[in-house]
Amino acid sequence: MVGGGIGAFIGEVHRKAAALDGQIELVCGAFDIVPEKSKEAGKGLFLPDNRVYGTYDEMFAKEKALPEEERMNFVSIVTPNHVHFPVAKAALENGFHVVCEKPMTINTQEAKDLVSLVEMTGLQFALTHTYTGYPMVKQARHMATGGEFGKIRKIIVSYPQGWLSTRLETDNQQASWRTDPKKAGPAGALGDIGSHAENLAEYITGLRITEVCADLSSLVEGRALDDDANVLLRFDNGARGILHASQICAGEENALRIFVYGEKGGIEWHQHEPNTLLVKHLDRPVEIYRTGVDHGSYLCDTAMHNTRVPSGHPEGYVEAFANIYRNFAHALGSRLQGEEPNPENLDYPTVQDGLRGMSFIETVIASSKSDRKWTRFE
Ligand code: NAD
Repeated sequence: MVGGGIGAFIGEVHRKAAALDGQIELVCGAFDIVPEKSKEAGKGLFLPDNRVYGTYDEMFAKEKALPEEERMNFVSIVTPNHVHFPVAKAALENGFHVVCEKPMTINTQEAKDLVSLVEMTGLQFALTHTYTGYPMVKQARHMATGGEFGKIRKIIVSYPQGWLSTRLETDNQQASWRTDPKKAGPAGALGDIGSHAENLAEYITGLRITEVCADLSSLVEGRALDDDANVLLRFDNGARGILHASQICAGEENALRIFVYGEKGGIEWHQHEPNTLLVKHLDRPVEIYRTGVDHGSYLCDTAMHNTRVPSGHPEGYVEAFANIYRNFAHALGSRLQGEEPNPENLDYPTVQDGLRGMSFIETVIASSKSDRKWTRFE
């Protein structure tokens, strides 16, 4: 692991998610920008001293020198955005597979470079767009892409949070780098959570956004990056959409929600109620689908593959994360044994999704600045 030191947020979630299914063991790390703090974090995780490194460069060099059966197989990158690219690049160049946080880089050029490196090395790369890991999101994708609702015509995806309603960045670690263009990249709320919304809309529908018309704002005085993003979308099949991502919706938690409408019906899913999927029809009442290993009679195979417990026992954020890790681990395990992975295990966001996310961010920024407004998303 690189990042995820003491007081960090998402590294701890990754460690829990990776450990959940017994397929992945944390063997080493460079956990903090401050080498001494990395050592302290590694001690707290009961790692042997010689596998806790001061920097990621040292980690890659020393791990590479270990016998193959001892060295790490892959690295999880859980640092602020500007550190994703250098670590991912170094990992791939040294022959290590990668799990990386989003947004993948801080510009499209870096993202393209990673795509080339993954293609050149043949190494495995997963991007943790967490929300695609939920079983009910898999079910929604199965129904929306399977033609159940006819042609998809309308998508509304919104991700409102309220935690940056004040200038929290003056004394909060997570807020401080997220509002600093040198560390977060060119986008604030748009990159932090809008990229999840973009990825979710395309994952569920299988459609591709082709044009955007955007309005980005920094509504908290003195903030350098956007904290409110409103984007109209056009999709490659002619569908229309609305994407809203904001961190100044006072009182909201992580209220990600998506509505998809086709000619004959659609779906509604809320992260606050992730085990429920509402399925709507033109000609009959709404249906309530629920997660559970005992619901195989009506849930699709992919939803079942990503479900762990019987209905009524809640599965949540950590399990959604763990689904990305479990699929990644099984796919990597097959490859390491020279076998083709089961297609179900290849169902995790990739380096291509990362590139798409970065060009979405840059296109939305260009549209917001432009007077012409409608801007093509290549
Ligand atoms: P954080 O500030 O809480 O933690 C970052 C950690 O990285 C710290 O421990 C810091 O010391 C370490 N770090 C920084 N530079 C380093 C370096 N050169 N070498 C080693 N360690 C280094 O940040 P966070 O909130 O955990 O976010 C981290 C990443 O995760 C961001 O890219 C963010 O966008 C992403 N994230 C994703 C999700 C999700 O749902 N997928 C949720 C939250 C955060």
